[in-house]
Amino acid sequence: MKSFRDLIKEVHQKGICQQCGGCVSFCNSIEHEVIGFKNPNKPPVYLNKNKCLRCALCYLICPQTHALEAEINKTYKFSNFTTMPLGSFFNLYSCQSTDKDFLQYGTDGGVVNTIIYYLLEKEVIDGAIVARTLGPFSREAIIAENKEDLIKASRIKLDISPQLEEIQKFHTYTNSLPKLNQYRFKKLAVVGTPCQIYTIRCMQNLGIMPSENIEFCLGLFCYENFFFDKAQVENFEKAFNVKFRDIEKINIKEDLILSIKDTDSRSRSIHIPFNQLNKYMRVACNACNDFTNIYADISFGGLGSPDKYTTILTRSEKGRSIILKAIKAKKIKCTHLKTSVKDNVKELITKYSIKKVKRRENFFKY
Ligand SMILES: Cc1cc2nc3c(=O)[nH]c(=O)nc-3n(C[C@H](O)[C@H](O)[C@H](O)COP(=O)(O)OP(=O)(O)OC[C@H]3O[C@@H](n4cnc5c(N)ncnc54)[C@H](O)[C@@H]3O)c2cc1C
Repeated sequence: MKSFRDLIKEVHQKGICQQCGGCVSFCNSIEHEVIGFKNPNKPPVYLNKNKCLRCALCYLICPQTHALEAEINKTYKFSNFTTMPLGSFFNLYSCQSTDKDFLQYGTDGGVVNTIIYYLLEKEVIDGAIVARTLGPFSREAIIAENKEDLIKASRIKLDISPQLEEIQKFHTYTNSLPKLNQYRFKKLAVVGTPCQIYTIRCMQNLGIMPSENIEFCLGLFCYENFFFDKAQVENFEKAFNVKFRDIEKINIKEDLILSIKDTDSRSRSIHIPFNQLNKYMRVACNACNDFTNIYADISFGGLGSPDKYTTILTRSEKGRSIILKAIKAKKIKCTHLKTSVKDNVKELITKYSIKKVKRRENFFKY
């Protein structure tokens, strides 16, 4: 039987723990506190080794062991050999929020937060685990229960200088899943990167806590995520001639896009290709081959859509239904994608998905 000890050996010691928090959220939900995060930038550790039951569940739900992959593909039918690398989906849209606040503060078309708000209004969910922005490349997980919370989770705050002193605030990854335990018996949506959504599906497939709370998995496209400590920040600022404090907004589409407000108050955008960001990328992202968030109910990204629009893939029946209802209720509006344009978008996201699959193959080869 595998245990957390095997995760340490097979995942942490290889440097590929994605710190999704799945193992911690499950283990703490059975109130053992056997494992936990001591440092937010490091993999979880044993807190109370003697209490470990060796139940193997932390090992099974880890996105880096892929232990349940065949099983969840069978259960959820999101992915099979013929639908890779995009996974199966019903439809592809390019949409924008009709709510001016969500649109203004949104990363792309403000669609994710609009859908969450619609689910809250319809009482399909009681809350959503989202990420509040603390500063450039710095976020923390919160539970949003209303529009104000959601707007807070969109916006980049600029009064961030004191936080910049604290190295641990530079991590870009949002450790959302341990939040699940704070909301037992509620119905939640979770916004997450592919590794987080994968873990949730494994938990749901096994029927283990705290996944019973999750009504909707809203997945973000993710080519890679970043890690910054003080030295990395200094290197980055020098290499790209920017100051973190001047970054107004960050987006990731076909590359990293920084909106900068310079000291003379002039705004400019810079695009940094992924191949220049290897130094800043989280090492664990090399081991991931899912760009479009295959296991989500709905996947969202900017790639392929015009500015201020979000690309959407509806994957599950309930994901498809909520997007259709949101369009009908005029909560979001779609650009009319002709078949040829849709094919181009599909081709583009397929290209990035293949690049990610290849990167993983190369990472394990060397
Ligand atoms: C690390 C990362 C990498 C990405 N890489 C790509 C990429 O390579 N290509 C691409 O096309 N798109 C990428 N995206 C997705 C893209 O940046 C937008 O999030 C997406 O298009 C939705 O835009 P929106 O305006 O509809 O969302 P909004 O309405 O602005 O809502 C976004 C929601 O996501 C939540 N959120 C933001 N960051 C996180 C996080 N780290 N963890 C959990 N929740 C979070 C926010 O709190 C908010 O609720 C990435 C996103 C992230 C977080």
